[in-house]
Amino acid sequence: MVDANTDHSEADEIQRAVELIHLGARLQLLESETRLSRERLVALYEEVTGAAPGAAMPPLPADWFLVWKPNIHASLFISIWRYLKTFFGMQGVDAIMQAYRLYLGHMQATCLDPILSVTRAWTLTRYFGVLLDTAPCSACGHDFVVDAHAVKSSPVCGFCRAPVAETTAHREGGELGYKAAGDRTGQEGDSR
Ligand SMILES: [Zn+2]
Repeated sequence: MVDANTDHSEADEIQRAVELIHLGARLQLLESETRLSRERLVALYEEVTGAAPGAAMPPLPADWFLVWKPNIHASLFISIWRYLKTFFGMQGVDAIMQAYRLYLGHMQATCLDPILSVTRAWTLTRYFGVLLDTAPCSACGHDFVVDAHAVKSSPVCGFCRAPVAETTAHREGGELGYKAAGDRTGQEGDSR
């Protein structure tokens, strides 16, 4: 019985590792979330991708998920991940994999580049509840990812505020042209 269980759980581990590799997981994630040996994982990785796993990279800092564009993606991923945990009882790396598949589906449906890799999504979940949390946007009410230790009194999400760099570029470079185009439209258009 014990042997059968061990075989079963090992088969599950291998299947999970293969799915993670298909999703683009790096070796660090595989080592952390499966009980397979490093040698076994490297062999699986090479078998699935036809290439050796890349060199280890330091994890992204938590701050990266607070930058405007990554923050929008991180907030979307976290909302899917939480939904699966709360309403479907999914846990651990299975919840991360399923949330990541749904995130990719959403990106495809909206023709956006998925800037979260599965390893980044996994890193995000590890920061969650420690360095990062969510707070409701004071403008639209949707939860978004914030610094857990510095939640502002009236936080505003990425959908409700343009990034500072874009606003500045717009003010410096585009305002006159934009205004002229607007005026012309006003003159040439109908009374609206
Ligand atoms: Zn908002």
